[in-house]
Amino acid sequence: MKNDAAARKAPGALVEGPREPRLFAEYPALSRVVPWLPLAVTPTPVERCTAIARYLGRDDVWMKRDDLASPLFGGNKVRRFEHILADAKERGAREILTVGGLASTQVTATILFGRALGFDVTSVLFDQPITSFARRSLLVQASAGGRLIHGGGYARTAILTAREIARARKAYFVPPGASGPMANLGYVGAAFELADQVARGEMPRPDLIVLPAGSGGTVAALSLGMMLLGWPTTVIAARITERFACNRVTLRLLVEATAQKLARHAGSRVLRRNLPPPRFEVDHGVAGRGYGHPTPEALEAAPEVTRLLGVPGEITYSGKALVGLRRACVAHPGKTILLWNTLSATWPEPSIGPEALPPAFHRFFEGDVPI
Ligand SMILES: *Cc1c(COP(=O)(O)O)cnc(C)c1O
Repeated sequence: MKNDAAARKAPGALVEGPREPRLFAEYPALSRVVPWLPLAVTPTPVERCTAIARYLGRDDVWMKRDDLASPLFGGNKVRRFEHILADAKERGAREILTVGGLASTQVTATILFGRALGFDVTSVLFDQPITSFARRSLLVQASAGGRLIHGGGYARTAILTAREIARARKAYFVPPGASGPMANLGYVGAAFELADQVARGEMPRPDLIVLPAGSGGTVAALSLGMMLLGWPTTVIAARITERFACNRVTLRLLVEATAQKLARHAGSRVLRRNLPPPRFEVDHGVAGRGYGHPTPEALEAAPEVTRLLGVPGEITYSGKALVGLRRACVAHPGKTILLWNTLSATWPEPSIGPEALPPAFHRFFEGDVPI
């Protein structure tokens, strides 16, 4: 029962960090209505990244190290799951269902944090280009005790997901991307965390924040945070999923839904103040043919991520983030740029091999694949 041993050990690593999220300090009424449990180690550091600045030919590039947000599994899902898993607990769920791509970090986070908190977790996985990162993700998910179902294409994945929802009626469902308004509050709080760091003189106020955008929840929440702070900062979404999933309209809707959630629970003064419009830009020049697609630029950038940042370089998230950062630097000379690091620097070692996965996944381990 290796997995259960891992599940018991993990919670000890989950409770470091503050006793209350930054957003609750800002809007105390939230603590009475928004479910929350501690998973993230915050504040995550801000750092000046001279290696990247030199590589990009700039004086300065700053980095927000959310890759270090948890010793179990960092990255930008942690702050969300503090609310999602607390909600699942409050509702008395014992099983969690989710759906995502083979290499989805949302699925990996659901399984790792869900199992660590004692939930059963089932995930239906749709196909995406196979990389060594995707292989590792599958092994990590299965090693943590996640039940994996191969969905294949989008249509079959939807059918199998509906079947799982019908089977496990009491299960808590985490949708692809996991970026509903409640989950997004984690990143509104992260904006205030950054403001504290700027106020302490740890970095100058950024003109631009660059990060990869999948469902767009992180970008939407950070832009809402910038509005609430009254900062003129622009958030640049380097789109890494299909255009229908992440564009000006979907981001605008996410900002509004998250703002309404906040207003409802924090008191309407949040929205009664005359807020400026959200400032974000979507860079559609990064994704190539879509989620997980190996573009030549991302293939070239992935090893540079490892070399320059010391965090895992791959083509779905961090490679495309570096491509987006480079494009933002070219488009905005002279601005203070912050790269918000969204991919975990910490990954558990898989404890099983491919042969232990359900047979439908075995073919993903045949032959050579990109990084
Ligand atoms: C999930 C994820 C994203 C995308 O975040 P969204 O909030 O869905 O846009 C970006 N980078 C990494 C590493 C991720 O895991």
